Amino acid sequence: MKHVLIIGSGLSGLTCAIELAENGIHSTLVSPYPSERAQSVMAAGGINAALGSDDSTSLHIEDTLKSSGNIAGREAVTGLCSAGPGIVRRLEELGVVFSRNENGDVALRAFGGQSRNRTAYAGASSGKQIMTALIREARKYECLDIINRLLGRQFHSALIEDGKCYGALLYNEKECKMETVYADAVVIASGGQNVLFGKTTGSMQCDGYVAAKLYEQGARLKNLEFIQYHPTTVETPQKRMLISEAARGEGGRLYYMDGDRRVYFMEEKYGERGNLMSRDIVSKCVYDAPSQVYLDIAFLGKKLINSRLSEVAELCSKYADIDVTKESIPVYPSVHFFMGGLAVSRDHKTSIDNLYAVGECASMYHGANRLGGNSLLAAIYSGQVAAKAICGLQESTDRPDFGEYISAQERVLEERLASKSRFSAVYVRHEIAKLLNDCLGITRNAEKLTEGIQSVDYYISISDKLIYDSDVSPYIGYSLRPMLLLARAILTSALERRETRGAHIREDYPESDSEFALCSVCDYKDGEHRISYVNEDEL
Ligand SMILES: Cc1cc2nc3c(=O)[nH]c(=O)nc-3n(C[C@H](O)[C@H](O)[C@H](O)COP(=O)(O)OP(=O)(O)OC[C@H]3O[C@@H](n4cnc5c(N)ncnc54)[C@H](O)[C@@H]3O)c2cc1C
Repeated sequence: MKHVLIIGSGLSGLTCAIELAENGIHSTLVSPYPSERAQSVMAAGGINAALGSDDSTSLHIEDTLKSSGNIAGREAVTGLCSAGPGIVRRLEELGVVFSRNENGDVALRAFGGQSRNRTAYAGASSGKQIMTALIREARKYECLDIINRLLGRQFHSALIEDGKCYGALLYNEKECKMETVYADAVVIASGGQNVLFGKTTGSMQCDGYVAAKLYEQGARLKNLEFIQYHPTTVETPQKRMLISEAARGEGGRLYYMDGDRRVYFMEEKYGERGNLMSRDIVSKCVYDAPSQVYLDIAFLGKKLINSRLSEVAELCSKYADIDVTKESIPVYPSVHFFMGGLAVSRDHKTSIDNLYAVGECASMYHGANRLGGNSLLAAIYSGQVAAKAICGLQESTDRPDFGEYISAQERVLEERLASKSRFSAVYVRHEIAKLLNDCLGITRNAEKLTEGIQSVDYYISISDKLIYDSDVSPYIGYSLRPMLLLARAILTSALERRETRGAHIREDYPESDSEFALCSVCDYKDGEHRISYVNEDEL
């Protein structure tokens, strides 16, 4: 019987498992923590679907392509946007209570970079409600043993031979041991690369390691230089708390002070919808502002704030001691989303056979900049697309012997558990996060990127000697080298793209260049990171 291994149980992994189960295919869903704690639960703003009477799939496609800096694949984006209305209807059937307008239709709010109100939302907890509905649906199949969950496990590496994947090695945190799971197909659904960058708006469960390890093992990465900065976040000691774009969608205004005068700089520059320009544009304007930027939602009134922006009010009160019904919120742009990740074809297969990638860890649909609300849509759609492709795969009958590889990895783990290294892998992780934030900020230049590459190369050159801190999980130790390779690939992708496009703003190449109107792909072979450029629809 066909069996699929899914790494990650957030929105994309869960969707894929359910779609497979509906087709009678068994899957094992692996994650360190339960689905209830995945980043997808944090999404508050909503999900895009062209449901409005003044909207259409073609307008959604055009907005998505424009926002992508015209490098997302038209065919891929057409598939995504066409699926939007059906996905929202399906979520309703599963029990998601989307907010309604006065006519009783699904209410749609304005989000940045969109020509129509298109973002469906469930109060202030869209992600939570969507995940709750899917977790409940998955449970039906768990009871039938069609979906099997493995918690407390981290991905270690894929079992790959001759360009085909046969399963994966997992690290069991509690028992400090490796486990092998063979499968007819493996789906990666491990989210973004947050921890690589230190403090971001996202979950600390998503560190980028899975994509990094697969890159080391030969999988191709794509569009790594495109990192989305969200324009409105609040600094806290642990992380950057997101002030959802919904706050501006409901009418919130950005300004800075010039003496006693409020300067509504986005409206002055871009007119009435200035606060809702796409995130790359708003983040750059906030970054360029001559003094602290504030977001004002107080004038919207308590009633609207409590009904539609309650999570913004709660978050500001809890983490920043701000009463948003009376005061403006000081905001900063911060790393929020990764347009780049594992390169996939239209059916979400990576460059390795029988290995698929879905959700935020896969690079597809968003090009150089993602539209708010398109990520939840892409997580669900990609899970469905990959499941459909896997239904058509043959069962593996000719599995090679991975015994030697597995024993070697177990030996390395035992040595690491026994060792008392002085060099702190945690320290190196922090240094790399600092370096990436410094070199890959809202604006970049060749000098900084080259310096960054030199530093990362130094750490890579000594990484075999960096074992791991004996007081932290071995995971931190064995994940370090692949993470350094991923950092190197991101820096190289950013250095090679000698133009400005979407979220990639080069001080030394301030204009877009038609020569680069393509997606970048990065391959790691014989110790070299090689960049080339492709059309997304041709992958
Ligand atoms: C604060 C915030 C608000 C957002 N709001 C919106 C919004 O309103 N609308 C929208 O469209 N998008 C929004 N986004 C983006 C969106 O939430 C994500 O892109 C999307 O939920 C990603 O889903 P996913 O399934 O790819 O990953 P995730 O939900 O992040 O799930 C990843 C899974 O992989 C597991 N995992 C990670 N590493 C490993 C490993 N080594 N081994 C095994 N398992 C692993 C994790 O534990 C988790 O189960 C928001 C993001 C943030 C941070």
